[in-house]
Order: sequence, then C-alpha cells, then structure tokens
Amino acid sequence: MKEIEQKLIANFKRYVAISSQSDGSVSTLPSSEGQRTLATLLCNELNSIGYSETELLETGIALARLPGTNPNAKKIGFIAHLDTVDVGLSPDISPQILRYEGEPLCLNADENIMIDEISHPELSKYLGQDILFSDGTSVLGADDKSAIAVMMTLAHEIKAANIEHGDIYFAFVPDEETGLRGAKALPLEKFPVDYCYTIDCCERGEVIYETFNAGTAVLDISGITAHPMSAKNVLVNPNLIAADFIDLLRDHGLPEQTEGREGYFWVTDIQGNQNTAKVVVAIRDFVQSQYDDRKAYLQSVETLLKHKHPKADISLTLTDVYSNIAQAMGEDIEALTRLYRVLEEMEIPAKTIAMRGGTDGSALSVKGLFTPNFFTGAHNFHSRFEFLPIPSFVDSYRVALNLIKVDA
Ligand SMILES: [Zn+2]
Repeated sequence: MKEIEQKLIANFKRYVAISSQSDGSVSTLPSSEGQRTLATLLCNELNSIGYSETELLETGIALARLPGTNPNAKKIGFIAHLDTVDVGLSPDISPQILRYEGEPLCLNADENIMIDEISHPELSKYLGQDILFSDGTSVLGADDKSAIAVMMTLAHEIKAANIEHGDIYFAFVPDEETGLRGAKALPLEKFPVDYCYTIDCCERGEVIYETFNAGTAVLDISGITAHPMSAKNVLVNPNLIAADFIDLLRDHGLPEQTEGREGYFWVTDIQGNQNTAKVVVAIRDFVQSQYDDRKAYLQSVETLLKHKHPKADISLTLTDVYSNIAQAMGEDIEALTRLYRVLEEMEIPAKTIAMRGGTDGSALSVKGLFTPNFFTGAHNFHSRFEFLPIPSFVDSYRVALNLIKVDA
C-alpha cells in the first residue's frame, strides 16, 4: 500500500476511535464531550507538527491557520464536522478493510451482517478495490472523519514536502448532524478566507453547490376537554385538528413522492392528547420563492384552521434552518471554478448534484460565505453499510492538495 494511503488510513482510524456522536436532544454546543475530545486532539496534533495558530472555542469549534509560503496567494478554507450521526447504532466504531472481489462480504460473522451487490449495487463500481467498512454494528464515520483525515494529512504533507501554498484555514465544527449547529456558530471573523469548501458526503467526483432551503413548522393546538357523556357542542378535539392540518399538506409534495429539485412537506412528529396536540413539519425547497410560498401556504392553513375551529387555540411557528448554498453564489464563484479545474486536471468526472439535504456550507451560505462541497468518496452515510473505497479516499485528499497548489 502506498505511503499516502497508509497515512490517511492511520489518521482515519485514530479519529474514528474517538466516539463523537452528536446528541440531538440537548441544546449545548458541542452536544457531546466526544466532539470536544476530538477537537482537542486535532489542535494538539497540529501544534505538534509545527502549526501554532490553533484555537479551540468554547463551542467545541477547532480553528487553525496554516501560514502560507506565499503571502499574496488567496486564502483557502476547509471545513469538516466532528460529529458522527446517532441513528440508533453503536457509538463506537471498529473499522476494517476488505477487498471487494464481487462476492458478498461479511462485515460481522457473529451477527451475520453481510453486504452484497444485490442490496448495494453501488459496490460494483469498486471491484478489486480495498474498502473501509465498519464491523456492521455502527456507521463507518467516513461522514465526516475521512474529511478530517484528509485535512490533517494535508497539513502534515505540505510541511514535510515543503509544498508552496497560500494561507490555509481549517475549521472543525461540531453538531452538523443535529442541524448544522456548529457551522452556524462559526465566527467568520476568525475564518477570513477568500474561498472555502466543505469536504463531506458522497462518491468520488461529487460536487454540491445547491442544497435545499430548509425550515421547520410547528403547529400547537389547544382544544377543550370534556367527558364524552356531556361532550356535544363542547368538546374540541385537538387530535382531529392535527389530522385536518396534515390532510391539507398531502397534495403539496411529500418526501416519498418527490425527487430531483422538487420540494416537500415532511410531517416528522405528531403528539396529541385530549387537551393539546402538536405537529412538526419539515419544509424543503430548492427555490427560495417556492420555499417562501410553502411558508405562506402554511400560514393560510393556520388561518383556515382557526376559522374552522374557533374555540381551539391554534398557533403556527415557522423557523428557517438553513438555505440553499447557491443563493450565496453571487458574482464570485471562484471556489467552484477552481474545484472544477482541479477535477478536470485530475481526470475525475465531476458529478454535480442538487443535494436533497443540507451541508455545513448551507449554514455558511446564509452568512454570505459561498461554500461548495466536494466528495469524501464514501457511500451509504448514516447506515451500518457506510463504506469508503480507499482509492476514492486518496482522490478526495488529492483534490484538497491540488486546490491549495492552484495559485501558490
Ligand atoms: Zn456529514
């Protein structure tokens, strides 16, 4: 195995050994101590290889400046997230490398966890390659620790090999998986870059600069309770009002009925008892005006429900969560131009996708920092079948390396 592969893998294994699931049930930042432990380790490692300008913020965000050899070069930034997702799998990750030769692979003999091409046809692209997998009891954590490994290996290599570069800024942010909360808290005055990238998500070649506009709607309903024996014309059932509300969302796109650039309403939570009910809806749309129309529609539904149920107390709360990266593009699309140029030079076919989700770049784009994303090379995020083909991992690293060389 080549030296750079070994370094990437060794770094990756060291970072996944620190369990750092984020916890969506708490509002502190970071939401879990493992993330702070990892952030501390990253600062210490950067210090030990000679980068003294690191800072660990109270929020768990780790920042670093790698001073450039060319002070006139543009300042580039890379962002990765510290947390792994909690989808009910083990928080502890034991990675393994298996070569895919076309036969089903056993991830865990004790628990009889297998992966094969029938259920995972994407495997067929990696015939003959060494691939990182978990042991089947957890995610792999390539989301997003492969990106952390790419950045840390880069920091090491450019120093060891005396590679010319401009100022490089790193941001390691917590709690991407719990609503991009770390990226939202990133103080841009401490991250003064000319252009930047997230390294996250998906297969070799993928480029993302369009994401959803995302928001949350919460409908709170208070009814009037009564014993059924004397309920006529008295009882106001909040659960039926919640059902009315959901009915009015059905014809406006649901996740299970939409794809590509189509938006949706996704009813994520319903709670109800005799007195109160609550419905939570995720709002998603690529086009800002359509996203705004969705919010306006929900407000009109609220008005309608109030009219229909005058004795109930109904209130709708709308919150914007993140916005489409593309809306922050403006005139300056240098980050994207450079990325496509590097991919072309490396003969990696660019696969530009409109992501039906968000990245940390979506949170930064709201603040005006246009932040496209390039691939980690991994597949099946948030699944026990997450895997990272090592050649794709190396290519993710090489893209980062070539980006810093562009105008050094
Ligand atoms: Zn991620």
